[in-house]
Amino acid sequence: MQTRIFSGLDIARDVHAETLRRAQDAGIRPTCRVLLDASNAGARAYATRQQEMAEQAGIALTVLAYASDPLAIYRQLAALRDDPAVDAVITLYPLPQGVDAIAAALAIGAEKDVDGLHPMNAGNLLLGAPGRGAATAQASVICAEALFGNLAGAKVAVVGASPVVGRPLTMMLLDRNATVSVGHAATRDLAALTRQADIVVSATGVAGLITADHIAQGAILIDVGISRSNGQILGDVDLASVEGKATAVTHAPDGVGPITTACLFRNIFGTALSRRPQ
Ligand code: NAD
Repeated sequence: MQTRIFSGLDIARDVHAETLRRAQDAGIRPTCRVLLDASNAGARAYATRQQEMAEQAGIALTVLAYASDPLAIYRQLAALRDDPAVDAVITLYPLPQGVDAIAAALAIGAEKDVDGLHPMNAGNLLLGAPGRGAATAQASVICAEALFGNLAGAKVAVVGASPVVGRPLTMMLLDRNATVSVGHAATRDLAALTRQADIVVSATGVAGLITADHIAQGAILIDVGISRSNGQILGDVDLASVEGKATAVTHAPDGVGPITTACLFRNIFGTALSRRPQ
């Protein structure tokens, strides 16, 4: 069996087109402010790409530099929360020193938080209530459904338990009646846990962590992790090792990544729609 390398580009294009169509139907041009550390070239390049892609989804995305110190940044975020011309606010990583991700989400407010980090949005997800979840977790679910089908009853191992990927993803999988187990850096025998799974989603940033020894024959692997080495972008999955044993592996970085961006833009549209009088 040859392992399929799954690209997320087609699905991402469809989600962008759907967001654009819905925005046009509703007569809305959503607005989003993205804050970044202007001295970080990587963050600047990422934001410029996001800006270009946002145009394709009919979203006006403006990039701003973080204010000078944490207190000023929280005030900056609160001002954007109170600005009626702004539908959504995103704080790009790395956050400036002294700025806490949850405190930043609190300053942005639940309504304009499109990363699912505000305790109200995260709480709704935890309770299985309708709400807005983290885009990377949404994208991982989309990949898992595209490759596996209906997730009800599927055994899914999530590797990584961060607030932006592993935790929200676990809740979204439970909402789909999957049986979920979660591994992390302190898990004693990760391979024993992941070998039980039909689907392994890995979001650690540890290049090559998931090998043939970690998976069952025919498993589906969703590779969320991104790390860089010698100018190369690497995922969490050791592709050479799992070749012929995994049914499919998502491409890193063009598997989950583009769908994450598309889900983020869909979330931005969602906030914009909910803020307009119906
Ligand atoms: P994080 O550092 O906040 O969390 C990493 C998680 O991995 C932690 O729960 C940690 O316990 C676990 N972990 C670390 N080493 C491990 C090991 N050896 N074995 C098992 N678990 C281990 O990172 P994050 O923000 O959740 O991001 C995770 C990865 O996903 C990063 O590589 C990041 O770049 C990538 N990412 C990708 C996308 C995308 O769209 N493709 C989006 C967001 C993040």
